Amino acid sequence: MRSRLWIVPVLTVLVAVAAALPALSRPAPDRAGAPGGGHRPDATGVVLAVHGGAGTALRREDTDARTEKAYRDGLAGALRAGRKVLREGGDSVAAVEAAVRVLEDDELFNAGKGAVFNEDAGHELDASIMRGSDQAAGAVAGVRHVRNPVSAARLVMERTPHVLLAGEGADAFAARNGLTPVTQDYFWTQARWDSLMKAKERARKGGKAVGGSAPGEAALGTVGAVAVDRDRGLAAATSTGGMTNKMAGRVGDSPLVGAGTYARNGTVAASATGAGEVFVRGAATATLAHLIEFGGKDVVAAAHEVVGERLPRLGGKGGVIALDPRGVLSAPFSSEGMLHGFLTEDGRIVTRVFPDESPGHR
Ligand code: ASP
Repeated sequence: MRSRLWIVPVLTVLVAVAAALPALSRPAPDRAGAPGGGHRPDATGVVLAVHGGAGTALRREDTDARTEKAYRDGLAGALRAGRKVLREGGDSVAAVEAAVRVLEDDELFNAGKGAVFNEDAGHELDASIMRGSDQAAGAVAGVRHVRNPVSAARLVMERTPHVLLAGEGADAFAARNGLTPVTQDYFWTQARWDSLMKAKERARKGGKAVGGSAPGEAALGTVGAVAVDRDRGLAAATSTGGMTNKMAGRVGDSPLVGAGTYARNGTVAASATGAGEVFVRGAATATLAHLIEFGGKDVVAAAHEVVGERLPRLGGKGGVIALDPRGVLSAPFSSEGMLHGFLTEDGRIVTRVFPDESPGHR
């Protein structure tokens, strides 16, 4: 009996080694090893998400209840429009188009009706849409007479052999294909006019000439949507008036496939918002997709790497909404805030207008 007691410490050591083995074969629980690179998804079980632009945040302390409600209603209205499409069996392309149209018709957002002014006090609008099943895409740039540029983008995708139409040709194409033309006056709003005046004043004083930057000034507003339908088909769309006081003829990232918008089934649907030139140079949404497809990252890690690391290295801030085919949503932003919201498969609608409502920004 006494001679067999040696077995007790040996067994203890064996048990301890066996317990440690799985931990040794797992990556260390640091940022790099954890799923999402240590970042959390914004939501799971998501079928549709929208954004209302990145930029100067709405701040709790200086946002009255009416303003907060108006932004939440805008985002929720877009999500309801997309929900109706999906409930009636529509595909993800139809869902993102419907959602973006609602935001284009809401003057709070810098797209469609609420588009910002360029340096000539005119409006030039950009939009794109992409279908993940075959990577078909359509876009318009610099249109001046289209009420809903996202619908013109969809028509380019479905009715032409091209991907991007610009300027007068794009306006004429939209009108020929049944989209009601509007005059430039349609896009006039007091808030955007005030932003233009402030931008020109800043430029006169030698400050930043393009975009809005003063707190409370509407620098938010480009819109976008991503969706997954019951066939796991992904789609993404983005629409914008660009940047306040931009040069006439300037085109940003929003109408460019792989910069502002990207969708590929089995990988991701993504729509971006922020400093357009940097999103173009960084091929923002294509890079995000490639980090998943070729880099083996999940959607959360890929989105955070693009928005939190790669674009800031090029000098640009902004955000992205990225949805994978399983319904995992990542919505990181490096700007002060990004208005966004999502719809889950059980029909629940969530809107996030303050930066502290997003995981990772608490
Ligand atoms: N990315 C847009 C552009 O550069 C602007 C924005 O998202 O706020 O046109």
